[in-house]
Amino acid sequence: MNRAIYPGSFDPVTNGHLDIIKRSAELFDELYVGVLNNTSKSPLFSVEERVNMLKEATAEIRNIKVVSFQGLLVDFVKEIDASVVVRGLRAITDFEYELQLAQTNHVLYPSVDTMFLTAKLEYSYLSSTIVREVASFGGDISKFVPDEVAKRMYEKYGIEDKNN
Ligand code: ADP
Repeated sequence: MNRAIYPGSFDPVTNGHLDIIKRSAELFDELYVGVLNNTSKSPLFSVEERVNMLKEATAEIRNIKVVSFQGLLVDFVKEIDASVVVRGLRAITDFEYELQLAQTNHVLYPSVDTMFLTAKLEYSYLSSTIVREVASFGGDISKFVPDEVAKRMYEKYGIEDKNN
């Protein structure tokens, strides 16, 4: 079985993440989407909320498992017996950090390789940080995230959802 993992914070999941998820699910028998439970960061959404939003947004993709994990990525990769880590590359600014991460993971666990998918042009500017910023000021995020996610973001910020 050809198993991969797409790890990230997904705080929240964006249309850019979903594009990477759909494309990589076609390349592997099974794709784990691993939501990092990072206790040192204070995310907008709890890890359970992030997992639930991802589950909802990917409900139609049959070979996907959305799970949370904490600690070292390579330990989780070993635990689920995956052989590939999928990451997305938006621009040259992503490259340096992603290369370092991929090489570190490969040294820590030589059986794992990282595969990069380039962001679709229409999402290459998109990040969870920017979406949070726009939503916090009540801006329109309907082109950035699924409707359910937008709704929950406005709720978090105590802002009336203009689409409803
Ligand atoms: P992290 O906090 O680990 O960077 P993110 O959830 O922000 O986690 O991103 C997870 C992965 O998805 C990273 O490889 C990132 O480069 C990629 N990614 C983020 N936004 C996009 C996007 N708009 N298009 C394609 N890939 C993206």
